Amino acid sequence: MKSAVATTWSREPTTQNGARKRAEPGQAPLSLIAARIVQEAVGEDVSVADLSRLAMSDPGFAARVVTIVNSAAYGQRRAVTDVRQACSLLGVRGLRNVALALVVSDMVPTGDDGTVLLTTSLRRAVASRLIAETLGSSYVDDAFTVGLFLEIGTLALARTDVAGAANVARMPAAHRLVVERAFGYDEHPAAGAALGEKMKLAPGVVEAIARHHDAVVPSSELAKIAWAAERVAGAWECGDVEGIRQDAVKALTAVGVSEAAVEGLLRSIPELVTAAAGTFNRPIDAQTDLEDLARDANARLVELNFGYEQLVRRMEALLREKQVLADELKAANAELTSLATTDALTGLPNKRYLVDALARDVARADRAGTSLAVVMLDVDHFKKFNDTWGHRTGDLVLAAVGAVLKRSVRVGDIPARYGGEEFTAILPGADPEGARVVAERIRAALEATEVAGPKGPLKVTASFGVAIVKGPNCQGAAETLVARADAALYEAKRAGRNCVVVAT
Ligand code: GH3
Ligand code: MG
Ligand code: MG
Repeated sequence: MKSAVATTWSREPTTQNGARKRAEPGQAPLSLIAARIVQEAVGEDVSVADLSRLAMSDPGFAARVVTIVNSAAYGQRRAVTDVRQACSLLGVRGLRNVALALVVSDMVPTGDDGTVLLTTSLRRAVASRLIAETLGSSYVDDAFTVGLFLEIGTLALARTDVAGAANVARMPAAHRLVVERAFGYDEHPAAGAALGEKMKLAPGVVEAIARHHDAVVPSSELAKIAWAAERVAGAWECGDVEGIRQDAVKALTAVGVSEAAVEGLLRSIPELVTAAAGTFNRPIDAQTDLEDLARDANARLVELNFGYEQLVRRMEALLREKQVLADELKAANAELTSLATTDALTGLPNKRYLVDALARDVARADRAGTSLAVVMLDVDHFKKFNDTWGHRTGDLVLAAVGAVLKRSVRVGDIPARYGGEEFTAILPGADPEGARVVAERIRAALEATEVAGPKGPLKVTASFGVAIVKGPNCQGAAETLVARADAALYEAKRAGRNCVVVAT
């Protein structure tokens, strides 16, 4: 078979470790034929005769088509005796809907978890059908199938994680998306819509699946019906019975169901859900009336609390995890920033840091009307250290210069390695005389330093250029600040090195 439907959906459900689940005795998997009919019925020129021939090719499928068509939940008034009659009554669209319903019912796993999932889907199917009927909608024939497909995303999850899917289905309907997010599952409206597209469901159906948990009423008719059905079905599911019932009534009136019709609609749901389950060969317990549910509310609240306790614990664990990750991320970012702005050889801020710091401090001087000095220094005849003793010794000299510079400036000053054997210090607040004193102090400290070389101590000196700006209105002057310090440094070199020149 060529279709994605067949390859994706005709497989028997497998358990988490990949073992195939056996079909229940007497309930042969029908999805091959059903999927084929879905596929064929998408075609433009398919006839009822073609489809009924296909339907009859599998007696089990044929029998189930008849059962479904006759069920109260499906809403067909005339009794039908054979599949040919059922097909002509249903037409191409109707038969396709039945086949789709069987595809869904085949996806429902067995066991208690499966029953929860099946019931969840059937409630939405029955509610959709009733709402469409009450509204006199032209979608009345499609509504059951659409409702059945609303939870297809959760049924797909059940194929790999039955317990997880059922856990989601046991939570209050209105909170399911939060639960899915908390447990790391895909949100079922989006997942279901994607599947619906794969199965070539009509765009209106896909939209209804995608939007059935929207906060606002969708605008298209089918999506509106499904949206209200979701809220109506929720009234039978976990949570604060009274509150949810009120939400259901609100949703019904929001989509145009008259207040007079609401009670009757809600009353007919439990029986129709039970009947629909029988149709799918999956008997379920008789469904409780809403009134009885309200009476039983205390017992349900206990169940709810248990579910919530698990949920809250899981949420707390996730939040703790999130906090740890956030802290790690923050630390990693801080380290990254520090790496990107620190010179590895000297441990001083690098040029990238210096450029930002200078812009910031100039702006501050500009605002506050204070002065700011830049000291540039360049090691004298540095090339000789490299050439005579090798690069490793050259590096040791640079590290020593960095250390001297660092300890010779005050807190608040910013020493940095500008690049190569050139270093810088920003001295916020320094006037020309103060800056000269600082530069002179660094020069003297360096001259007094001995660097351990391979054959005894090495002497190091540097030449210094100093430039100053004074706020306010010093932004323009600041642009040439480094260039002026550099020019002063060049002058110091020409003056014989190991000295300080302050730019005028
Ligand atoms: P001057 O007194 O005129 O400044 O002479 P100089 O030799 O210090 O100047 P020059 O610019 O000619 O040479 C600088 C040398 O510094 C050249 C370059 O190979 C070396 N150098 C730059 N960065 C590093 C470094 O990280 N480690 C080492 N070992 N050498 C470096
Ligand atoms: Mg140089
Ligand atoms: Mg030099």
